[in-house]
Amino acid sequence: MTRILTGIQATGRPHLGNILGAILPAIKLSQQSKNESFLFIADLHSLTAVKNAEELAANTRAVASAWLACGFDADKNYFYRQSRLAQYHTELTWYLLCQTPYPMLANAHSFKDKSDRLSDVNAGLFTYPVLQAADIVLYHANFVPVGKDQKQHLEMSKDIAGAFNRTYGEVLTIPEPLIDESVMVIPGTDGSKMSKSYNNYIDIFLPEKQLLKSVKSIISDSTPLEAPKNPDTDVTFKLFSLMADEAETATMRENYLRGGYGYGHAKQALYELICKKFEKERELYNYYTEDTEALEKKLKEGEEKAAEIARQTIAEVRKVLGFN
Ligand code: ATP
Ligand code: MG
Repeated sequence: MTRILTGIQATGRPHLGNILGAILPAIKLSQQSKNESFLFIADLHSLTAVKNAEELAANTRAVASAWLACGFDADKNYFYRQSRLAQYHTELTWYLLCQTPYPMLANAHSFKDKSDRLSDVNAGLFTYPVLQAADIVLYHANFVPVGKDQKQHLEMSKDIAGAFNRTYGEVLTIPEPLIDESVMVIPGTDGSKMSKSYNNYIDIFLPEKQLLKSVKSIISDSTPLEAPKNPDTDVTFKLFSLMADEAETATMRENYLRGGYGYGHAKQALYELICKKFEKERELYNYYTEDTEALEKKLKEGEEKAAEIARQTIAEVRKVLGFN
C-alpha cells in the first residue's frame, strides 16, 4: 500500500484554497485502491497562531467537517486530530529537531513571510517545519499532496528524514511531495495567497448571503464598466476559471475582453458557480458541524487506528536512538 498524508491547520475556516489545493486532490488519491490515506487536522501547528480555546475547537470542527463534506471516507482511511496523538508527534519532533540545521529553519520562506506579517513571531512558528516533518514520517507516508506554497517545507521534511537516516540507519521513510502544477497558489480576496491566517479567504461553506458578501469583497481594478478588462490579472476571473469548465471559462474571457461586463457581474457569476459546484458539500458540511457527535465518533475511531502506527514508529526510533 502507498501511504498518502495531508494535514490542514485549524487556524481558521477551511477555504477555497485549501479545498482546491489540498482537500480535493487528497480525497481523489484516497479513492485509489492502492492508496491508504492519512488526513488530519494539524491543531498543534495552529497553536502558533490561535490562542483562544473556543476558536481553536471551532476551527478544528470546521476543518474536520470540510474533509468529510468533500467526500473523504474516514472508515477506510485514517482521520485524526494531531493534538490527540500529541505525545507521538511532539516526541518525534524533538528527535528530528536535533537533526535539523538551524539555518535551514531561519531561511524558510514561509517563516520569513509570516514573521514579516504577524505581530506574534513565536518559536513554534520557527520550528513549524520540523513538527510537520514528524507528522509525515511518523506514519511512514510515501506521498504528501500539497499546494505549491508547501514545496519548501516538504523539501525540508525530506532533508530532515534523510539526515536522521544517515545517522541512525534506514528507519524513516523519505516522503515525496505531490504537487499538482495545474493547481496554482489560489489567490485570496486581496490578491495575495489565500490563507486562513491572512483573513483574505473565501469560505465556501458560509450561508448564501455571507458567501456572496465575501465574493464581492474580492479586489478589482478601477476599469470602468463599459471598458474591456484583462482577465489574466483579475482575481475573480482566476478563481472562476479554476472551477469552471472550458466552455464557461471561454465565455467569461470573452465577457471580460468585450467590455460592458463589470466586475460585479463576474463576481455574481463566481458566487453562483461556487453554490452550484459545492451544493452537496455545503449540505454535508452543515450536517457535520451540527451533529458534532457523528463527527467526534469518526475522529475518535481514526485516532485509535492512527495511534497504533504512531506507537510502532516511536518504538523503532527509540530503539535506534539508544532509548530502549
Ligand atoms: P495558514 O494561513 O494558517 O498557514 P493556510 O490557509 O495556508 O493556513 P494550511 O493549513 O497552511 O492553510 O495548508 C493546508 C493545505 O492547503 C496545504 O496543503 C496547502 O498547500 C494548501 N493551501 C493553503 N493555501 C492555499 C492556496 N492559497 N492555494 C492552494 N493551496 C493552498
Ligand atoms: Mg499555510
